[in-house]
Amino acid sequence: MKKTIKLLLTLVVLVIGITLFGCRGNGNNSSKELVVATNCEFPPFEYTDKNGKSIGIDMELASEIAKILGYDLKIKDMSFDAVIGALEAKQANVAMAGLTISEKRKESVDFCDPYFDAFQVVIGLKSSKAMEIDNYDDLIKELEGKKIGFQNGTTAQYFVEGDEGWEFPGINGAVSKGFTSGAAAIMALRNGQIDYVIIDKVPALQFVEKNKEEISVNIDVHLTEEQYAFAVQKDDKELCEKINAALKTLKENGKFTEIVNKYYSD
Ligand code: GLN
Repeated sequence: MKKTIKLLLTLVVLVIGITLFGCRGNGNNSSKELVVATNCEFPPFEYTDKNGKSIGIDMELASEIAKILGYDLKIKDMSFDAVIGALEAKQANVAMAGLTISEKRKESVDFCDPYFDAFQVVIGLKSSKAMEIDNYDDLIKELEGKKIGFQNGTTAQYFVEGDEGWEFPGINGAVSKGFTSGAAAIMALRNGQIDYVIIDKVPALQFVEKNKEEISVNIDVHLTEEQYAFAVQKDDKELCEKINAALKTLKENGKFTEIVNKYYSD
């Protein structure tokens, strides 16, 4: 009897030991987590569905990349102009936010491989002059002195206000109006508070589609040529390489195109 108890106790100790060791073995949970900084106000790349779930092209890519890397996925939704700072403060290890590669941002974060081409375009009321213009110079002339809305911290803001780092001269006499989201800027346009909105083309098409009786987008003129990439903390080459490899896999196995096509068709 004594022997059996001893044997049982030994077994219990062994099992506890293995469990603890096992936990520690694959534990390192902090490094096994992909913490994504984003701003869910940018359809079709990131937005929230009726149940508050983060969806969109970037969000599905995030989930597929986490799966490939064997990481748990954590989405941190914040204002767009906080995304880069979240990486700098090490509160996230990757930004997936329709984020445009720029020399200025490269001072604060590292970019992984580009995955999407993007352009700034102008949204206006259907009746507005900018909607009929078919060349860059005339469109810029029309924008001069106008009240122009954009989402804070985006390429559009730098384009309107001018920025050396981005090499944008700015639009002469434009009155810039920053909003917390593209949707809020569109609302201000519909209410007559501003004349135009400048925003990335693919989100622009989706915002306009929702209000097509009132507003329109000039897709003939691209104000900029940009590329989106996921960004990591400065010098986190290891994660960047892993993300690039996962992206490559998703491109090769067709999943990337499948995700893009689910949310957007040319
Ligand atoms: N591509 C733009 C930028 O990087 C806008 C991104 C966004 O609003 N999510 O500034």
